[in-house]
Amino acid sequence: MSRGGLARTLSRLERFENAKLDLEQYATPGELAAELLWTARMAGDIENRSVVDLGAGTGVLGIGALSLGASRVAFIEIDPDAIRILRHNLEGFDADRCDVVQIDVSSFSGSFDTCVMNPPFGAQREHADRVFLDRATTLARRIYSIHNANSRSFLERYAREAGLRFSIIAARSLPLSAAFEHHRKPRVFQEVVLCRLER
Ligand code: SAH
Repeated sequence: MSRGGLARTLSRLERFENAKLDLEQYATPGELAAELLWTARMAGDIENRSVVDLGAGTGVLGIGALSLGASRVAFIEIDPDAIRILRHNLEGFDADRCDVVQIDVSSFSGSFDTCVMNPPFGAQREHADRVFLDRATTLARRIYSIHNANSRSFLERYAREAGLRFSIIAARSLPLSAAFEHHRKPRVFQEVVLCRLER
């Protein structure tokens, strides 16, 4: 599968029906998900690796990992409504390679090669992404994640204190709402960074 093909596949997945603000539900655009996953793949962190998708939502990142040959993917998500859509998106994939777990990430434990995530940025609940980072670092040796660009210095400090190697893969602008696409006004963007943390 090519990177463009991956982006198209992920763009076609079913999205959140009524995205929940308090959970900061936002489906990663296919193009951005493909960029993150392609980088992980080139580093040897996806194919034949076990992957955990924290805050999986409708499954964009985890399904991308499955498409790129992950040996198995655990989808961790708290919201039953998102899980319903996730299960629909997983139809056609080998069920033996997928675990869907409805749980708060802070209560989930396990051991994986790689973690992929687009966690809440903490706009609704302060430090929401710190909970995800804390969990991710106990679950996997490699973490590929998307964060608010404003969190850059927090991330650097976090990695230093945790003894992790930290790098920024790319900085991008995310269109915040598809609803704006039909407006003549410029769309609203969120600046994000794609990151890699390595134990
Ligand atoms: N990973 C998906 C969704 C990102 S939005 C994608 O990239 O498209 C963040 C997701 O985290 C939402 O689905 C939200 O319901 C979930 N979430 C938020 N807090 C959570 C928690 N404490 N435990 C598990 N999932 C959580």
